[in-house]
Amino acid sequence: MEHKWKTIIEPFKIKSVEPLGLTTRAERATVLERAHYNLFNIRAEKVLIDLLTDSGTGAMSAAQWGGIMVGDESYAGARSYYNFETEIKGLTGFTEVIPVHQGRAAEKILFGVIGGKGKCIISNSHFDTTRANVEFSGAEAMDFPVKAALNFDKPAPFKGNADVAAMEKFIKAKGAENIPLCVMTVTNNSLGGQPVSMENLKAVRELCTKYGIPMFLDCARFAENAYFIKLREKGYAGCPVRDIAEEMFELADGAWMSSKKDALVNIGGFLALNNKDWSAKARQMLILTEGFNTYGGLAGRDLEAIAIGLREVLDESYLQYRIRSAAYLGEGLLKRGVPIINPPGGHGVYVNAKKFLPHIKPENFPAQALACALYLEGGIRGVEIGTLMFGKRDKNGKYLAAPMELVRLAMPRRVYTQSHIDYVIEVFGYLAKGKKAIKGLEVVEAPPILPHFTAKLKPAK
Ligand SMILES: *Cc1c(COP(=O)(O)O)cnc(C)c1O
Repeated sequence: MEHKWKTIIEPFKIKSVEPLGLTTRAERATVLERAHYNLFNIRAEKVLIDLLTDSGTGAMSAAQWGGIMVGDESYAGARSYYNFETEIKGLTGFTEVIPVHQGRAAEKILFGVIGGKGKCIISNSHFDTTRANVEFSGAEAMDFPVKAALNFDKPAPFKGNADVAAMEKFIKAKGAENIPLCVMTVTNNSLGGQPVSMENLKAVRELCTKYGIPMFLDCARFAENAYFIKLREKGYAGCPVRDIAEEMFELADGAWMSSKKDALVNIGGFLALNNKDWSAKARQMLILTEGFNTYGGLAGRDLEAIAIGLREVLDESYLQYRIRSAAYLGEGLLKRGVPIINPPGGHGVYVNAKKFLPHIKPENFPAQALACALYLEGGIRGVEIGTLMFGKRDKNGKYLAAPMELVRLAMPRRVYTQSHIDYVIEVFGYLAKGKKAIKGLEVVEAPPILPHFTAKLKPAK
């Protein structure tokens, strides 16, 4: 019998390397001050381990780089487009495939077609760009997460699920005719990268069918979600992940994807659906803002790399490594007394800064303070999801406490190895021991829209 080894290894070897940005603590103190304690203002070469986002930051495979070289750059009817279309049709079963330069372009086009004043889009949770595009169209975006999602400490297998009963109550009150779409975000990015179960997808499907509402997937991390179903849901342990992913898509009427996530590329996206009326209108918008139907804002080589990435991402040794990496980081942090959204998500770990730094008041941005301390001590870059990002103020300009104070550590795909993650855990252990010394921040200036990207801060008095 073949021995079952316990160690889960990175299932790749490294063909091309990039040096990391090594700096001293003194240098980082200066960098931080010059960046006004806003990590978006730091040059990436001054970051050692960059966990700002998993979007477009992954490493492509040798096969994908090979695809880049043979990409067909014909304006119309490029071979690379047909490879892209065939791969997406095969995976999703949708008949209309529209390439876009990234996920939000699909959202802008789709909600331009189906959104508008008086309309409402319902979801387990809208991602920020989805919400922004729904609202930009004049429509309203309503989230229906399950209650378990809001209890960070208590693990549950499918915290990404939608609260179906609450959704139904809302549909009855609002009127189904005012709800052109229900979107299920898989995995649920806004609430910790948590998965949605097949059972929940089926229940939402049934609800949508009952009220005649189309259901789409925002499927940026569909493969991670499918792998979680295999690991955690009854009846799926022996099922190939590809079959699980296909079953997820079968339940939906359409999907859009930021390919910068689970298509393992640095740029790209698509909108795929069956509704010919919607797709005809979407293609009109596509030509206006993105490009012709067979490239949609991408180069032929990008389409080629996406087609290959969509196949590679369903490799189960890759997914095992991927999900294990985030779990490994999460377990390491918990062992060192760092509270997180438990269990860890698919694409990263969300640290609960409110619980970790109770001595810092919300108006002094505990999550931002922790993100800055993480950079100062270890050169690690995460991102604040808290009072600064939400940016709500009272009439005197005082910041109102956001419902959560998190530092998201998002893991780029196939980029860092276990020793990099061990280092991150060690830095957190050090921070945990001296956490009382971590001081809050105050805002010097911040714009009203999306303040966290450009706000300037300083240490609080
Ligand atoms: C990243 C993301 C988007 C937006 O995609 P971009 O490629 O960044 O424009 C939409 N939805 C989800 C769930 C995402 O994670």
